[in-house]
Amino acid sequence: MDKQLNLFSIQDKEQSAVSDGIESLGLPPKASLAHEASGRNEQDMLNSQSSILNSQSSILYSSLEEAKSAAMSCKKCVLCKERTKVVFSDGLENAKIMIIGEGPGENEDLQGLPFVGRAGQLLDKIFTSVNLNRKEHLYICNVVKCRPPNNRAPADDEAEACRDYLEAQIKYIDPKIIILAGAVAVKKVLKLKDPKITKLRGQWIDGMGDLLQGRKIMPIFHPSYLLRHEWNKNPDSPKALMWQDIQEIRKSYDALK
Ligand code: SF4
Repeated sequence: MDKQLNLFSIQDKEQSAVSDGIESLGLPPKASLAHEASGRNEQDMLNSQSSILNSQSSILYSSLEEAKSAAMSCKKCVLCKERTKVVFSDGLENAKIMIIGEGPGENEDLQGLPFVGRAGQLLDKIFTSVNLNRKEHLYICNVVKCRPPNNRAPADDEAEACRDYLEAQIKYIDPKIIILAGAVAVKKVLKLKDPKITKLRGQWIDGMGDLLQGRKIMPIFHPSYLLRHEWNKNPDSPKALMWQDIQEIRKSYDALK
């Protein structure tokens, strides 16, 4: 696994080997690896926040399987009423990287898998551009496991009702890196009132509490947000920033070994 995976070799081959991912992302060819120093205040703010997740080790379920089985027939919130399928997760159950989104959309609801629509395909391309994929490296889930009607953001009480499942996923998958895709995931997981994803993206946050301690957390743009933006040669464009962030994620993943 991970044979010859090297961030810099990927950069060298950016117009060929990873063209599928990069070109369709419209990512800039020479994006800098330098990490933005800005956002320090936001990180300080984050480090002082309580999370929606328990700081105590009071996980309701004794295994991931038990949590999944409970979720499959769950009626703890109103989202159960209109769902087609419960969307629990996809990916590797001992992944070092967990990606958490806000909730299932239409395609996800129909297929019972997270991030399988256009935005999900873009997410896959972003990660495969640095040779990370859901079969070998990633575990993907959402704050809520059932689709909110009309793709609205999940309400606080819905996120709270679904919290036990997310806690079980974090405990039993035991990821070293948690990626929060989009402002809603940041808001719900880190319990922030009005997170500015443009400021927080790309910032590493040290997890706190029993469940998150020792894990590195990074907010990134939601891929559906990226779909609405073309790359325009501006190094501050969302896709250029995403390119920086995915390389930073790859670098941290490599440092785990
Ligand atoms: S969103 Fe979560 S808490 Fe609500 S019904 Fe679905 S699984 Fe249960």
